[in-house]
Formats: sequence, structure tokens, C-alpha cells
Amino acid sequence: MEFMMIIVLKAGVSEADETRVLNEIESRGYSVHVIRESGRIIIAAFGKEQTPQTLEALTSWPQIEKVTPIQKRYKLVKRAASQERTLVKINDHVSIGGNAVHLMAGPCSVENEKQIMTVAESVKASGATILRGGAFKPRTSPYEFQGLGEKGLKLLDKARKATGLAIITECLSEEHVELVAEYTDIIQIGTRNAQNFQLLIAAARTGKPILLKRGSGMKIEEWLLAGEYILNSGNPNLLFCERGIRTFETYTRNTLDLSAIPIMKKETHCPVVIDPSQGCGSAKLVDSLCIGAVAMGADALLIEVHPDPAHAWSDGPQQITLEEFAKLTRAIQPFLNAAGRTLGKIE
Ligand code: PEP
Ligand code: MN
Repeated sequence: MEFMMIIVLKAGVSEADETRVLNEIESRGYSVHVIRESGRIIIAAFGKEQTPQTLEALTSWPQIEKVTPIQKRYKLVKRAASQERTLVKINDHVSIGGNAVHLMAGPCSVENEKQIMTVAESVKASGATILRGGAFKPRTSPYEFQGLGEKGLKLLDKARKATGLAIITECLSEEHVELVAEYTDIIQIGTRNAQNFQLLIAAARTGKPILLKRGSGMKIEEWLLAGEYILNSGNPNLLFCERGIRTFETYTRNTLDLSAIPIMKKETHCPVVIDPSQGCGSAKLVDSLCIGAVAMGADALLIEVHPDPAHAWSDGPQQITLEEFAKLTRAIQPFLNAAGRTLGKIE
């Protein structure tokens, strides 16, 4: 792979210093092309591969003003000019990344059998293809409900068997990767673990599709590089999920960065999912954000739905009711039509 850096020398460097810099760059395996313009010297350095001793380290040299890498730091998640989008196969009946927009819906936390079965039957009837539900919950306070653990996974499995819906649930730690992979169709990596690289590698090695949330303080480049860990571990089944970033705004819980959709669709061949629920923290805003996400090209939506949000064991204010979810699936239809997309189905 060609790798290119631009190195700008400080104004007025001596010939001897210029030679020293050029020799150093060449000794690191790069070929050089020197541009002289208005008394300034700019070096274009071409390498086959980025060596462990990157040229950026040369920034500390007194002769050098600036070192700029031209290539993107991510390679495997990057979308080449004419590259097809990746279709991520979730199971034999559902794939994400094609023309169909899939709905992943369910409670923030699995609470009991009746709750998860009721939600599963209802969201399926409304058009969802994937059931979400947290069994291991990353709570801000240790005194809040931490999830049912394996019991929650078993209930999700029961709901899958009863409805045929695929399952998505979060894995919080390396210790639970095998256990979660045994029950789920998609492993969710949450915002708090988005740069827990050992967890990403362990989850990727199961071969299961991975939904990688964006860290609430992560730049898009960092998110793409976190995704690079999944593909680099031999697992091509990656879904990126925007779920809101931390800003100065307090009206919403997070600021859902919808601009990430067109950016990610340009930068990566992997599907892009939007989670409006964590994204805004308010049930009243979920329908508008879903409409915006569909219009902007999201490949799937991850929505928190609860039979009785006022009594939910986590994230009550942002969960919509079963009826609201049914209404939402109808409300997005004209926007799907306008975008030339269809609603995902269990094939
Ligand atoms: C969730 O989906 O319930 C959740 C905890 O997500 P996030 O990691 O985006 O906060
Ligand atoms: Mn939640």
C-alpha cells in the first residue's frame, strides 16, 4: 500500500540540514520528491507501508516545520471510490446495509419474561426485525439496576424462539464475550466501551456481527479507527451506531450527530445505524429523529420501546410505548419512499 507524507522544512534551513532530513526519510524506506517554491522546501515522501517509526516523529526536529500524513489512518473500514457497501448478514433471514432499513426495537433493559415477550410480539407486528434488550447494563451509578445478566440473555433467547426476531444485546466485558455470543445475533459494544480495544478484539473474534456505538466523546476518525480493530481481527460484520455525543447542550441528554450519517456513508462501506433514544434522552423527540435519520440514509434504527416507560428499570424518559412505536413505523414510511428505501423484513 502506498503511503504518503508531506514534510515542510523551516524557512532558511541550510543545504547540509536539508540533506540530513532527506537521508533520514530515505533511511526509513521512503522515496522522496522535493518541491522548491519561493525559497521554501517541501518534501513529498512515498512509502510502501507506514513503518513503525512514522515520519510524524520528525516533527520534533529543529529543521522541520510540519509533517502531514496524506492517507487516512483507517484502511479496512475505508470505502474506496467505487466500492460496494457491505451487507452484514445478521442471520439467515435478516441482512443490514442493503436497500432495506431495519428496525431494532425493544426495552433498554430486559426486566422479566412478560415484559420482553410482550415487547417482542408487539414490535414484530409493527415491523421490527430485531429485538433489543440489555442484560448487562452499563449504569452510571453502582446503585442502579445492573441488568439480569445470563437470565436476561435466556429471556431474549426465548423471545427469539417465539417470534423469529433476531437479537441484539450489549457485552460489557471480555469476561462475558463467549456467554453473550452464545445467545445473541449481534453483539452491541456500548458508548462507554467504544475504545476498549481488548474487548473489541475479543468480541470480533466470535465472528458475530458487532454493533459499535460511537463513544460520547469520540471524534468520527476515532470511531472509524475503533471499527478498524474489528475488521483487523478478521470480522467483516461491523455496524457503526451513532448514539449522540456530549456537547454543552442540556435540553437533550446527548446531541445526536445526524451529520455523522452522510460522513460515515462516504468514509466507510459498513452500514450506519442511528440510536435516537440514547441520542436525545426524550421519548417525545424520537419520532422526529427517526424521520431525519431515514431521510439522511441510515441503514437501521435502534429504538428503545417499553410497555410502560414510566415504570422502566432504566432509561424511562426516553423509551416510547408499544403504540408509539407502531405509529412511528407508519410515520417513517413516506420518508423511506422518498429515499427510495424499503422497510426491512424477515425474509
Ligand atoms: C443502551 O443501548 O441502552 C445503552 C446503554 O447504550 P449507550 O452505550 O449508547 O449508552
Ligand atoms: Mn438505554
